[in-house]
Amino acid sequence: MDSKPHNKLHIYFLPMTSHGHVIPMVDMARLFAGRGVKATLILTPLSAALVSKTIDRDRELGLEITIRLIDFPSAEVGLPEAIENHSSVTSPEMSQKIYKATVLLQQPVENLLEEESPDCLVADVYFPWASDVATKRGIPRLIFHGTSAYALSVHHILSQQKPYKNIESDTQVFVVTDLPNNIMMTRQQLPDHMRDGTENHLTKLMEKIMEAEMTSYGVVINSFHELEPAYSKLYSEVIGRKVWHVGPVSLCNKDNEDKARRGSKISLSEHESLTWLDSKKPNSVLYVCFGSLSIFSNVQLLEIAMGLENSGQEFIWVVRKEKKTKEDKNREEWLPEGFEKRLEGKGFIIRGWAPQVLILDHAAIGGFMTHCGWNSTLEGVTAGVPLIAWPLFADQFYNETLVTDILRTGVGVGAKEWCRWPDENRIYVTRKDIEKAVVQLMVGEEAEENRSRARALGEMAKKAVQKGGSSYNYLSALLEELKLNSN
Ligand code: UDP
Repeated sequence: MDSKPHNKLHIYFLPMTSHGHVIPMVDMARLFAGRGVKATLILTPLSAALVSKTIDRDRELGLEITIRLIDFPSAEVGLPEAIENHSSVTSPEMSQKIYKATVLLQQPVENLLEEESPDCLVADVYFPWASDVATKRGIPRLIFHGTSAYALSVHHILSQQKPYKNIESDTQVFVVTDLPNNIMMTRQQLPDHMRDGTENHLTKLMEKIMEAEMTSYGVVINSFHELEPAYSKLYSEVIGRKVWHVGPVSLCNKDNEDKARRGSKISLSEHESLTWLDSKKPNSVLYVCFGSLSIFSNVQLLEIAMGLENSGQEFIWVVRKEKKTKEDKNREEWLPEGFEKRLEGKGFIIRGWAPQVLILDHAAIGGFMTHCGWNSTLEGVTAGVPLIAWPLFADQFYNETLVTDILRTGVGVGAKEWCRWPDENRIYVTRKDIEKAVVQLMVGEEAEENRSRARALGEMAKKAVQKGGSSYNYLSALLEELKLNSN
């Protein structure tokens, strides 16, 4: 290995190109930089554009953090030029091409590592080749999964024991045993490839990922020990690797400017939503947002609108649709006639991107309807807010059970089926179920109990990253270990 000009650790961070991975990995790099590490983020141009202002600001404040750009090979895999992120894909074919392109990132990453000889590579789980690349350079590779130790443990046990194979129907409940808690699931809540046992590009990738996990140096997790103590230990035992809980990483965004800018630039209507929240009573508003990848048909969005209206509760609802333009003569098909006018002052719609952590931190927010993407789940927990779980796909059904059955800080909306690409004409969750879950979460004794448990967890999350807290100490230990390795 090259000799170092100084003994500052230099760590490379390589996120997968999707908001749910770039955002926490950028936070993680900033967190490490705040602890005296020289941090380099390897980003593709569109991801870099989203975070460059934040990184510039950190540098002005004295952190040693930089971005190195690599091109995303969109053209090579047949994607349109501006598509390099899972959040922009609209079909399974496009999604497959993104995965294909990530394989082609290996050589540019190797070139960068050769140029700079960092001490460690923290690479997203979706780059299984990163373990070999790090080994070649003689440095440790840490994996970032973007989910919890809980979800990883449940997934590992499910994959090994396959309890879903010996049941009669997709709707029959089975128990995932050999875990600190008995988790109940149905086959419907599992990904297609587990359900029908078919092989595809994703199952092949998953195999490589599992192999790379076993040969990695360890895993860094955006979570905190107190949230899932038994599962940190279990997951580490299952993979035979060390695990460091260093989150919630979103807490590295200390002021409103950082929080507002996270993941995108905010526009006028988003500012308005915050002023609107200022006029509301504490814990009175439900925040509804389904992350950066979710796809809802018009009929399902209509159903959400009606469920929210019928619940009688105040809400902010983020819809992943283009902003309304003045030229928009036609009414938006996913909105019931006169909806916004009727609910003026009671409901607020953000079209596009919301400053999520800023909104969640507002005292007026009393609940969060979420798809249970891990970042959103953890951000809700960190803000001390109870959740309505509406899982769609990926690890989200596991995260739902964590929230509703183990932490008991939320209720399920009644989503039953794992589905990445929904049917345009099908209603998956009815307005009645939505209304019921909203009222259950926001009003009454059970709501208060959920809220007080959520508040306590939020306090724990904040303590975890403070000096002497569990995540702070995990990070200290990790950095010490990496320093010893690099000498
Ligand atoms: N997010 C946001 N504003 C939005 C939508 C999403 O800030 O309007 C952020 C959210 O705070 C989280 C990330 O995007 O950090 C989404 O990650 P998550 O794991 O929740 O879901 P995914 O998008 O990967 O499904």
